[in-house]
Amino acid sequence: MAGIAPEVRALMRPSAAALDPYDPAFSPVDVILSANENNYGIPPEVAPALAAAVTEAAWNRYPVPLGGELRSQIAAWHNVAPERVIIGNGGDELLFNFFLAFGGAGHALVSCPPTFSVYGLYASMVETPVIEVAREKDFAPNVDALVEAARTAMLVVVTSPNNPTGDLFPRDGVRRLCEACPGIVLVDEAYMEFADPGSSVEGLLPTYDNLAVLHTFSKAFALAGARVGYVLASAPVVAALAAVRQPYSVSVLDQAAALAAVTHRDAFLPAIEAIRMDRTRLSATLAGLASLGVRVWPSQANFICVRVPHARDAWRRLRDERSILVRDFSSTPGLEDCLRITVGKPEENDLVVGALTSILKGE
Ligand code: PMP
Repeated sequence: MAGIAPEVRALMRPSAAALDPYDPAFSPVDVILSANENNYGIPPEVAPALAAAVTEAAWNRYPVPLGGELRSQIAAWHNVAPERVIIGNGGDELLFNFFLAFGGAGHALVSCPPTFSVYGLYASMVETPVIEVAREKDFAPNVDALVEAARTAMLVVVTSPNNPTGDLFPRDGVRRLCEACPGIVLVDEAYMEFADPGSSVEGLLPTYDNLAVLHTFSKAFALAGARVGYVLASAPVVAALAAVRQPYSVSVLDQAAALAAVTHRDAFLPAIEAIRMDRTRLSATLAGLASLGVRVWPSQANFICVRVPHARDAWRRLRDERSILVRDFSSTPGLEDCLRITVGKPEENDLVVGALTSILKGE
């Protein structure tokens, strides 16, 4: 893509002029383990329902802005009133809308890096100051420092499981943040379906009106291409998010696809369980490479964070010589020499371990 010419940059709003187009660092390869997608795809028993939903969708009509039937079904699934649910064009749109609604000059965000880079990006787009409370040894969040910072913040975002480190944020920490923060505490649970049952903080929603929980259909429900996410929050917070959203951001087709996934959600459980089991197997195999300098962190998500010697070089050789794409985080502060490997199908996981082993052995 052509860069932004200096004369065009000079015309841009100052907070936007510092940006460049997002690069997902994607290259065409045989084995894609870079974006935490669900490599099993749509379960065969759901595919006909999805196809029918798309065929029967009212293509000539604008979508129902807040998602009508999809919203009701998500609400019933999570046992909350529909007024406590808002859908978006992927979790990404909802994250952006949080900053549009609650961020801006003088409305600080507290975040807990290393974490999902999009929070900082969206904050800067709407001139939101960011207070970063860095994780400590082995990526443990410093909850006391977060709580102190939250006292003056309008928005706190914590990610559970965290991307790319894979750990859950402690439930008691979420409670303390909700009690300390005069603004909104957003818990990004994009990967929660891969975590041990009972790990979600959704159960705290009735207690804290300033708690919001983000989910997506992109990961466990294999719909990254459809772009649908949702937030559970108090009705007034949902109304604030509704006020800033683009009315038709989730298309008729995407709503139909997500509705098919919700109504057939049990069909996704076998792949989720397979990914969880393969995560254990892949972690153990990678941990067995300690003599080659490999370090693995425990994960509750569908990816594993791993430190390897000369990670950038290993990442490039995996891509160029083995046609395997993982995500390189080696230039992110706190993640030096770290790669993030999505847990794929067993044969894909075997391929990445085999390739990494021979690269690290210098073969
Ligand atoms: N939150 C986290 C932590 C993520 O990693 C992602 C996707 N990479 C998202 C939210 C947004 O996902 P989507 O827009 O596909 O719903």
